[in-house]
Amino acid sequence: MEPIHRNPTRRVLAGGVVIGGGAPISVQSMCATPTRDVEATTGQVQAMRGAGADLVRVAVDSAADARALGEIHERSGADLVVDLQEHYRLAEKVAPHVAKLRYNPGHLHHHERRRPMRDKVAWLAEVASAHDCALRVGVNCGSVAPEYSERFPGDSVAAMVACALDHAEMLDDLGFRNFVVSLKDSDPDKVVEGNERFAGERPDVPLHLGVTEAGLLPDGEIKTRIAFEKLLAQGIGDTIRVSLTLPNERKREEIEVGRRILDDVANGRFRSVPRLTGLNIVSCPSCSRVENDRFVELAERVRDLTRYAEGHDVTIAVMGCRVNGPGETDDADLGLWCGPRYVNLKRGTEKLGHFGYDEILPVLEAELNKLIGA
Ligand code: SF4
Repeated sequence: MEPIHRNPTRRVLAGGVVIGGGAPISVQSMCATPTRDVEATTGQVQAMRGAGADLVRVAVDSAADARALGEIHERSGADLVVDLQEHYRLAEKVAPHVAKLRYNPGHLHHHERRRPMRDKVAWLAEVASAHDCALRVGVNCGSVAPEYSERFPGDSVAAMVACALDHAEMLDDLGFRNFVVSLKDSDPDKVVEGNERFAGERPDVPLHLGVTEAGLLPDGEIKTRIAFEKLLAQGIGDTIRVSLTLPNERKREEIEVGRRILDDVANGRFRSVPRLTGLNIVSCPSCSRVENDRFVELAERVRDLTRYAEGHDVTIAVMGCRVNGPGETDDADLGLWCGPRYVNLKRGTEKLGHFGYDEILPVLEAELNKLIGA
């Protein structure tokens, strides 16, 4: 495989994996098993490593998850990454066991609101330094802090880029340089624009590329390719994650798809890039936050049910949990997110109610028909 031409970014060290600085583009994914289930999570980490994962991310939402992490690390020997979305204070407990910590500035904003953002970031940088961890500033278009959406009304990409630039500058000022940045959305065009703009301002900072909630195969791979081909061809991107809605036993395919895209780009094999007009079904890759394992089946049934609307420009988002579902569905025409017993439904930003897993599809169909005038 030919090496892909790369922008000269800084060298970031995450355990045994070098990101940026000319190192090969690393591939990572995220476990969807409950983290406290050590057996299942270790199995999934190993399956991903077997498929060629350089880093494997797990979610930690409780002290029990944090305790399990130590054992998962010991048993798997993998370079792990932890997503601190809702519980940044757990960083201290998980840092000894991981190579990288990811924080989402939007979520950090909502925790300990009286504490200045810079203090929270400084604390995270201190914890990361003490344990030789890297950090990822993971900005998502769907969850930027309100100050940025207010500064850039109607321009979610500008809000995302401004937030990422501020955090990169903050970490630099704090003397912490072992960090990467990601700017993600479920719309590949926004991912391309956001990463191009950030790389234009900060060509030195390594970038983690990803299209969130890319959804089911084959569309999920196509959407991801659209973004990755355009960015990698410009030398943008130092590590990648492909997010697909897959059952647990097939999660390793995220790594296989990622490696395939890198191989194609390196060898000049660019696929035709379809425009995202028509019906667009967005669904998340699932993770340990899913509370009902009927989520993947629901995403598949939504895709099958809605095929008749293919000629219409409609986006339907299907999310696995109550943590990110409400926010991440905001840009969809119809949004669904799963709870333990009910599926929540909204049209645009208006909540329509929650319905049993066996009741939701006819309600969705009726709403879709109203949208397309059927
Ligand atoms: S939407 Fe929820 S379940 Fe899906 S990947 Fe994101 S955090 Fe996990």
